[in-house]
Amino acid sequence: MRKTGRLPIAPRPFRDELLTSWRARVACRYGLETRDLAQCLTERGRGERSRFDDTVPDPGQIRLWARACRIEPRRLQRMSLAHRYPKRTRLWFLERAGRPTPVCLACFDADCMAGCDSYIRADWSLAEYFVCPVHRQMLRDRCPFCEGHLYVSYRMRDGHARLVCRKCNGQLTTRGGGHVARMDADIAEPAFAVQRQAGKIIAGDPVSRTRLESRIATLWAPLDRSGAARPIFALWFNQARWCCPSEVRVAVGNHAPLRQLPVRWRALTLVALLDLFGPNLSVDAVMPDAARNLFRRAALRPVRMYKGAGRLRAPVKAQK
Ligand SMILES: [Zn+2]
Ligand SMILES: [Zn+2]
Repeated sequence: MRKTGRLPIAPRPFRDELLTSWRARVACRYGLETRDLAQCLTERGRGERSRFDDTVPDPGQIRLWARACRIEPRRLQRMSLAHRYPKRTRLWFLERAGRPTPVCLACFDADCMAGCDSYIRADWSLAEYFVCPVHRQMLRDRCPFCEGHLYVSYRMRDGHARLVCRKCNGQLTTRGGGHVARMDADIAEPAFAVQRQAGKIIAGDPVSRTRLESRIATLWAPLDRSGAARPIFALWFNQARWCCPSEVRVAVGNHAPLRQLPVRWRALTLVALLDLFGPNLSVDAVMPDAARNLFRRAALRPVRMYKGAGRLRAPVKAQK
């Protein structure tokens, strides 16, 4: 392997699999984490030259993995998020680095039933995606066993790669965490409706999409004065002394808050927009009174372009 840089065995990617999920499954076959296998594949000890990006992966890394696993580079390129969702800007993909992974536990159960490896679906990286359309369950970004933030690894179990919580090593299934699942079930249906509507807007005309982005950012704008810890969103809750939980403070004043929020908070953000703007999220220019009354409390923000707001370019063609 070391001389040729080729692996004797490498599972094929699933059609809807996230690129980094496939790389981790390959590494799991060798009892390794991705970074360790990547280091073996590159020339001794140099390791990866840059962080692997699911949205626009580095062509050199595509070539490296395609060669090692005897796969057409184009097949891996087509798995990039930029290729799968050409109309989206980075604003609509989750910020993945160092953050928990949202997953559908019922999808993992289905993988087990089908007798195939479990894997992370590419759709789970979309910012407005928080309900599995197959199982109508909220995605989970907390471990059902230890309830910690969910960071996943693959482990071989009975000949198949299975996802486990990196912290407690529990295999991710729908068993466990029943009380959380029941709480989530209450918001899964309205959340699914608004997720579908947001998806249509994002894939539609740029004016409506920009308006939706602006309204989401305003909902998370600081209340009354810049630097305030409470966002406009606090007014929608309408509860005295509502404090912004520490896990979502990063979203206050952020131009693309959905990218960084946990699953349930992303769902609540769009459910609030549904409540304020109506079932189609009212992306026309007219703002309902309820929304105007809330939004005028937003602190003035300097106008600046978010660095991920521009169009993405699909990965440069990688040569064999
Ligand atoms: Zn599912
Ligand atoms: Zn755990």
